[in-house]
Amino acid sequence: MEITKNPTIKGLLEKIKKYAPNADLDVIRLAYDFAAEAHQGQTRKSGEPYIIHPLSAAHYLADSKIDPTIIAATLLHDVPEDTTVTLEDIQKNFGSEIAGLVRGITKLGKLKYRGVERYIENLRKMFIAMAEDVRVMIMKFADRIHNLNTLEHLPPQKRYRIALESLEIYAPIANRLGMDDMKGELEDLSFQYVYPKEYQRVKAIRDEKLAGKESYFEKIIGKTKNQLQQAGVKTVNVYGRSKRLYSLYQKLIRKDNEITNVYDTFAIRIIVPTVADCYASLGILHTLWKPLKGRIKDYISQPKPNGYQSLHTTVFSEGGEIVEFQIRTQKMHDEAEYGVAAHWHYDEFGSRLPKREIKWAKELAEIQKDILNKLSDLEEMKVDFLQTRIFVFTPKGDVIDLPEGATAVDFAYHIHSDVGDKCTGVMINDKMGKLDSELKNGDVVEVITDKNRKGPSQDWLQFVKTHTAKTQIKSNIKEQNNSTISKLLKAMLPRK
Ligand code: MN
Repeated sequence: MEITKNPTIKGLLEKIKKYAPNADLDVIRLAYDFAAEAHQGQTRKSGEPYIIHPLSAAHYLADSKIDPTIIAATLLHDVPEDTTVTLEDIQKNFGSEIAGLVRGITKLGKLKYRGVERYIENLRKMFIAMAEDVRVMIMKFADRIHNLNTLEHLPPQKRYRIALESLEIYAPIANRLGMDDMKGELEDLSFQYVYPKEYQRVKAIRDEKLAGKESYFEKIIGKTKNQLQQAGVKTVNVYGRSKRLYSLYQKLIRKDNEITNVYDTFAIRIIVPTVADCYASLGILHTLWKPLKGRIKDYISQPKPNGYQSLHTTVFSEGGEIVEFQIRTQKMHDEAEYGVAAHWHYDEFGSRLPKREIKWAKELAEIQKDILNKLSDLEEMKVDFLQTRIFVFTPKGDVIDLPEGATAVDFAYHIHSDVGDKCTGVMINDKMGKLDSELKNGDVVEVITDKNRKGPSQDWLQFVKTHTAKTQIKSNIKEQNNSTISKLLKAMLPRK
């Protein structure tokens, strides 16, 4: 999706109305007015009025048919950090849902890339914000995509860092979330700044490969539509797409830099109403054109790890030209393009992380492992920071992040020192657990406390993993001892 040129609030409202006819457009307009006033007088490095930035990010999301609540929050996303207007003001004017989203993105902060530790700390914040509400990441991606679009106005060093971060951190996360469109944007916009020479080279290769082929592909698309129609298969859409540059670059690396080994530089997509239509279309294509051996992929019965579903086939098309086809339903298509964001499309509106999707926490930990593995060759990095974090939930759905191996007692102390001191038992995923049970990603943990409990047990020090728990236990035991000592002393004193 291209960024909108000369974005306006009017245009934004029109876009939203098209896919979300029941949306409360007043809220969007109010959010815009509120942000425009708060940013009054501020300019971007490009010289444009600041409001163009949140407005552009909002347009990008509207183009992806994202839930209008997220769009309202995106309009407001830089207000608390950059103006005198506070989160409380936003809460008062827009309520807690929008304020919560703005708080989430504000917590992430601006990119402050000073030293590795700082950087890792930022990452940690990002994972927590994500675990709390995935919608914050959707806002962050739109924010970043607009920033990447205007990167030329920043000094080269800064450009490089922002692009590198987008390429190495944000794009893989978008990929994991199955948000193909945003992943592709993040990659291609960053590619030219991170690897400028390779970018030029790959672009030249693609342009050469596709030069003068337009009418040929038009013909194939026409013939495909025709044949499907004759066979009684309805199509929602048949269209061509050329491979994104960064994705082509990576494929070229895997294919010995030989463009003739890349079959999907240009591919034809067939969108049909039902799964049965997908298989029917595949059959029709194969009677029309001979498929290449080993190139038929059924990602419908066996989806990719990120949930991607489609049928792929590569055929010898007219004149022996090799063409890839990708066949899917509209639902599969939306999922592939917008991923997690598709779940927040207006008609399927859901608020917080739904309980049944708590497996998301496991997914999150995988993303984090991938990224930390990538970064682990940085020498200066502190082992502590590298410790894998797990994300567990309170019964209310709040996220607590802990190091791997942390126990129920660690969890209790992270809730509150009193909860730790008074804990006597624990329910893990609605089952009784032991206090020294190791917690796993996505566990829902409920601590049982007894207000008559004197305090922590010395034994707990044998199994707790976090610094917080250790220090609290030690200091409480010291206090207990002190008070025991003072009682003893009192007892020993002669009565008056
Ligand atoms: Mn921003």
